[in-house]
Amino acid sequence: MLASDLSCMAAEAQKVVAGGADYLHLDVMDGHFVPNITWGAPVIKHLRKHCPGVFFDCHMMVSNPEQWVEEIKDAGGDQYTFHLESTKDPAALIKQILASGMKVGIALRPGTPVKDVLPWVDLVDMVLIMTVEPGFGGQKFKADMMPKVTLLREKYPEKDIGVDGGLGPSTIEAAADAGANMIVAGSSVFKSPAPAQVIATLRRAVERLGNGKKEEELTPLPPA
Ligand code: ZN
Repeated sequence: MLASDLSCMAAEAQKVVAGGADYLHLDVMDGHFVPNITWGAPVIKHLRKHCPGVFFDCHMMVSNPEQWVEEIKDAGGDQYTFHLESTKDPAALIKQILASGMKVGIALRPGTPVKDVLPWVDLVDMVLIMTVEPGFGGQKFKADMMPKVTLLREKYPEKDIGVDGGLGPSTIEAAADAGANMIVAGSSVFKSPAPAQVIATLRRAVERLGNGKKEEELTPLPPA
């Protein structure tokens, strides 16, 4: 949603959901973990009223992520994606998020080695590889982050692996080939005159390869 017209966020959200988006990615920035401020739980709570039933992935670019788990849950968050770099105790935070009833995502800044997240992957629902430096929309896609995605996909064939930053029709093939299945797209969708077409292009690239699908989802079993 970062790339949307924030003065009419609800209408912008409804537009992309109607255009085929599977979920909304909400970038919460606190002006401390990243040098920018966006919105917090109160805005998400209002947006929730306009988007019943839509999956909200809350990307918490904040220091002290432990502080906001309950607020984000109350506001209608479905997944709480925190930065590995933002906490001293990922295990406790994962436990806290699961206890709240939300799914858990872990995000990695471009400078964080992928090996740092490996101890936590089994405990979370999604790993989010940042393909730009977090804090601003509209940046150029870092293709050199793709080996992180490839390594995770090899180790975890069925895990949700997300990419965030600079994704659009010109970069989706690289991300899909590496194995990503959750595509966060901002400018490429919201600045397009035909967002539904862009979403369809992104979806085709990922589904063509079956990224993140279980084996039985790929080969339908014969009827019993
Ligand atoms: Zn994000």
